[in-house]
Amino acid sequence: MNRITRPALLVLALALGACARPATPVPEGVRYLSRAEWGAKPAAMEMKTHVPHRITIHHTAERQAPARSTAAKLQALQRFSQSEGTLGNGRPKRMWADVPYHLYVAVDGSVAEARPIRFVGDSNTPYDPTGHLLVVVEGNFEEEELSAAQRRTMELLIPALARRYNVPPEKIAAHRDFAETLCPGRSLYAEIPRFRELVAR
Ligand SMILES: [Zn+2]
Repeated sequence: MNRITRPALLVLALALGACARPATPVPEGVRYLSRAEWGAKPAAMEMKTHVPHRITIHHTAERQAPARSTAAKLQALQRFSQSEGTLGNGRPKRMWADVPYHLYVAVDGSVAEARPIRFVGDSNTPYDPTGHLLVVVEGNFEEEELSAAQRRTMELLIPALARRYNVPPEKIAAHRDFAETLCPGRSLYAEIPRFRELVAR
């Protein structure tokens, strides 16, 4: 007979559960939409796995659309991602397995799970996103500013991700630090030193 009683095992399991990392990468107080909640389709092909060691920030380059649901925006982004097409600059876009980014920060401040973080993201520009946790923020930040809800979410989310994946402040960066692009737009790029400061605290 095993000496560990059933109640003791239950206590042990609860204690281990309490020590485990939270199930979602999004901090408390931020609304999170899982892939199931926005109605994601499965990935269209196999993806490589990686362990993120830096955070790279993008914008959608499309104007914020507060009247449209986050689920509808993610479904449209996934449809675009999983098909061949043409980019805004006229260059051809190949088919991707899934949404290229890992987390999507909507204009209302909610965060949607895009590509699962354990898989390498994708890019239209020639840099290797292996090891990059890709956060995309809804808007065209060449022309717009973060909404108050997006700013609040980013100030909670970026430090929480940095803690979870051991990302030091200097590895919080923007798409344009790696490739020739305006992404994530002027006004969002200007916020990055502040995100680094929050991570350094
Ligand atoms: Zn980008």
